[in-house]
Order: sequence, then structure tokens, then C-alpha cells
Amino acid sequence: MLKVENLEVRYGRLAAVRNVSFEVGKGEFVGLIGPNGAGKTSTLAAITGLVSPSAGSVTFDGESLLGRSPEQIVRRGVSLIPEGRQIFGTLTVAENLSLGSTARSDRSTLADDLERELERFPILRTYYDTPAGRLSGGEQQQLAIARALLGQPRMLLLDEPSLGLAPLMIDAVFEVLTHLRDEGVTIVLVEQNAARTIEVADRCYVLRSGEVALTGSSDEILATADVAAAYLGG
Ligand code: ATP
Repeated sequence: MLKVENLEVRYGRLAAVRNVSFEVGKGEFVGLIGPNGAGKTSTLAAITGLVSPSAGSVTFDGESLLGRSPEQIVRRGVSLIPEGRQIFGTLTVAENLSLGSTARSDRSTLADDLERELERFPILRTYYDTPAGRLSGGEQQQLAIARALLGQPRMLLLDEPSLGLAPLMIDAVFEVLTHLRDEGVTIVLVEQNAARTIEVADRCYVLRSGEVALTGSSDEILATADVAAAYLGG
């Protein structure tokens, strides 16, 4: 479904991503893990049209995404939940959710889909008419995921959804991701929380200093635990 080949992202003289290649099949859950500054966010930015790569290719269902605007890429079904969630704090939960549906082509099932997300995340129903800025970090993460799902994405990219959350909220986020995986949603999860990501992902790519340092199924990565420890910090 998604194919990234020999991707390079530069910021001036710094090559933040070098020669990164990976693939994501339909219904797969792929983790991109690695320490701070490894190039994970820059990789997602190149896929979603937020930065222009200096080399390499990104194709989605055989079509190049390079040179397309972030909006065009969202309309093709690639939805990014960025680090920090980008919730509009002065807008209500309901208003934030309605922004998620602007990219969808089929509006006939919108009411049903909204109901499904409110069942999935009951807290969003409780705070439906409340400004989203009053929600906790974990609740805002739930809102960001629900908003993305209302756009009927064909692939969901998440950048560090567990960052800064309390342990119970981290559990809740990973539980939701596990459910989405079981529903067949195609997911790319960027995380520093390597252990939790390996638990839920089918396959992982470990990035370090802008390059793919290790790749394999989650079982294979765990089997090379000594290597993983060196790259993942334990
Ligand atoms: P983090 O977990 O901190 O987000 P990351 O693995 O996502 O890390 P990136 O954010 O992609 O890594 O950063 C990779 C490198 O590129 C880092 O050295 C970072 O300082 C640098 N970098 C990222 N964004 C920019 C930018 N807009 N301008 C200049 N350098 C940048």
C-alpha cells in the first residue's frame, strides 16, 4: 500500500533522514521506533507532504505522493495525527470532530460513524459541547484519533501518541490502537516507547541517526534483544 524507497530529508546541511526504505501492506500495523532525533517525524512529514524530500520516492497504491500538497494526500486517504495532536482548544469537542469529516467523500454514513466513535471514546460524548482545551492530554489524544477516523482514512499515521501522557492514559491509547488493528485499519505508529510498540505492531523498523538500523517482525526484533537494547536504550 505504502512504499518508501531510499528517502532522504535534509534541513540545510543536516541529513535528518538518509536512505530510509520501508513498506506497509493493507491492514498491517508497522512501528517506526527509535530515540529522539532519529528522523521519525521527518519521515512522516515527507510522506504527508509537509516537507519535500531531497531524494527517494514515496508511493501509495502505486501512485507517487511526492509533489502533492498535504491536503491532496489527506484526500487520498493518508491521515496523520501529529505529535502534540493539534486539537483546537477553543473549539468544542463536537466542532473538532466535525473538522475531521471535511475530507471524506461519503457523507451518508457520517452520523453512524460519529456514533461509533462516541461509543469507542465515551469521554468525548461526556464533553461533547465543552471546549477541547479543557480535556486532559489523554482525552485530547482520543479526540485526535476520533477526528482522524471520521475522515475515513485508508491509512493512519500517528506521531508519538503516548508522549507526555500518564501511564493509565498510555495504556488506553495502546488499547485503542490494538482495537483499530483488529478492525483492519492500516497503521504506521511512530514511537519512542519501543517496548509497547513492539507489543502491538506486526513489524517494526528501528531508526537511528536518520537510518534504518534494524527491521523485522516484532518477534524477530525481540529475539535480537541485545541489538534492540543497544538501539532502543533497553
Ligand atoms: P523526536 O522524537 O524528537 O520527534 P524524531 O526521531 O522524530 O525525533 P526528527 O524530528 O525527524 O526526529 O528530527 C531528526 C533530526 O532533524 C534532528 O536532528 C532534528 O533536530 C532535525 N530537525 C527536525 N526538524 C527540523 C527542522 N525543521 N529544521 C532543522 N532541523 C530539524
